[in-house]
Amino acid sequence: MKIAVIGTGYVGLVAGTCFAESGHDVTCIDVDLKKIEALKRGQIPIYEPGLEELVHRNLAARRLHFTDDLNAAVGPSQVVFIAVGTPEGETGRADLQYVLNAAEQVGRALRHYTVIVDKSTVPVGTADRVSAAVARNTQYEFDVVSNPEFLKEGAALEDFLKPDRVVIGTNSERARKIMGELYAPFVRTESPILFMDPRSAELTKYAANAMLATRISFMNDIAALCERVGADAEMVRKGMGSDKRIGYSFLYPGIGYGGSCFPKDVKALMATARDVGLEFDLLRAVENTNARQKRCLLTKALKHYGDVSNRTFAVWGLAFKPKTDDMREAPSVELIEGLLGKGARVQCHDPVATEVAQRYFGDRVLYAPTCYDAAEGVDGLFLVTEWNEFRHPDMNRLKALMKSPVIFDGRNVFDPRRAREEGFTYFGIGRGQ
Ligand code: NAD
Repeated sequence: MKIAVIGTGYVGLVAGTCFAESGHDVTCIDVDLKKIEALKRGQIPIYEPGLEELVHRNLAARRLHFTDDLNAAVGPSQVVFIAVGTPEGETGRADLQYVLNAAEQVGRALRHYTVIVDKSTVPVGTADRVSAAVARNTQYEFDVVSNPEFLKEGAALEDFLKPDRVVIGTNSERARKIMGELYAPFVRTESPILFMDPRSAELTKYAANAMLATRISFMNDIAALCERVGADAEMVRKGMGSDKRIGYSFLYPGIGYGGSCFPKDVKALMATARDVGLEFDLLRAVENTNARQKRCLLTKALKHYGDVSNRTFAVWGLAFKPKTDDMREAPSVELIEGLLGKGARVQCHDPVATEVAQRYFGDRVLYAPTCYDAAEGVDGLFLVTEWNEFRHPDMNRLKALMKSPVIFDGRNVFDPRRAREEGFTYFGIGRGQ
């Protein structure tokens, strides 16, 4: 099939590359010319494990193309994916300007019956709005399908090629058949394709993200309680998670959720509910807990030092989670801004996010080439992102490098008892001090 994908971000680039990998002829489109030029040379603008190799392979096989010419790419395509950003807009609503703008351009570019797919995360009713925007600009037949994406950054290829499920929202038999064919290679392991109406598909994506955010905040509230009553949240987590009805996923106490999806999607779902006269109180609480949690390491540090001005701190990990360079809404940003705002100095290290971090902090922090360099002469160390390479550092070397051996472990990576035996003052999340 001939496929066009509009938007070459984390979702569009991964989706386009994976469709090319399954044999289709894919053209990825972006308004960002620099991105397109780089991609044509095989340079990937984001860090995503395995993606570069797959892009190279499909570029070489001429199944994958990049262009800024939407008209030329969409015209001959049978399926067009809209995978542009849907950032937080006014009063928490998803800002649909990029989606609707793309839809209008698609309408003008159509040359025959085409399936237009909303891949971006969009609120209930957007398929209707996209339909209207396309219809205003074309005489050709088309169907708009809602096909939300569930991939995780850091494991995006694996998630796309072997999804837990594929959700396809359409009332058109013709579109359903085409979408079923397109996804067939990815569901050979018996993962279901769930066909449903577009509104249910749109809501499914928000419901899933809001549920995951709720689990995180729930566990963070349990962790806060553990600190006050002298219990260990890690033990509670294991005790809870071993119940099959609960499971272990997304129950890790930490410093709050971030990234480009959970914060904005929770807000957008609350806005959708508000628009139809429903206050989603549970999600308001999820957000409040998350806001507190993002500040909790700084709170602990201020309590420990009294004053952090003129002190120097190491920050291990900048990305919002391991295996990505994405720093959108990352807890590291709030922590580092908090420290800098209180007059502290920051020496940070992240295996892949340094370049991205420079856009946030410029020369206000020191970017260390290794985690040990970051720890040199510091008054304390904040572990913010649980990259594997931070899990088993040489503790003696670390202690020797630090001016004072204090660890604020935002991901409960270290064993508190061992850290204390090794001579560190240790603060974790919910670890019953
Ligand atoms: P992104 O910001 O990384 O990329 C969006 C791209 O779209 C940008 O490169 C931008 O230049 C381009 N663009 C905007 N308007 C355009 C237009 N008219 N024509 C062509 N290109 C255009 O976004 P992302 O992280 O890939 O997310 C895209 C959507 O997928 C969002 O709705 C997001 O919520 C959703 N989503 C993201 C993830 C994730 O992990 N990042 C997972 C699932 C769903």
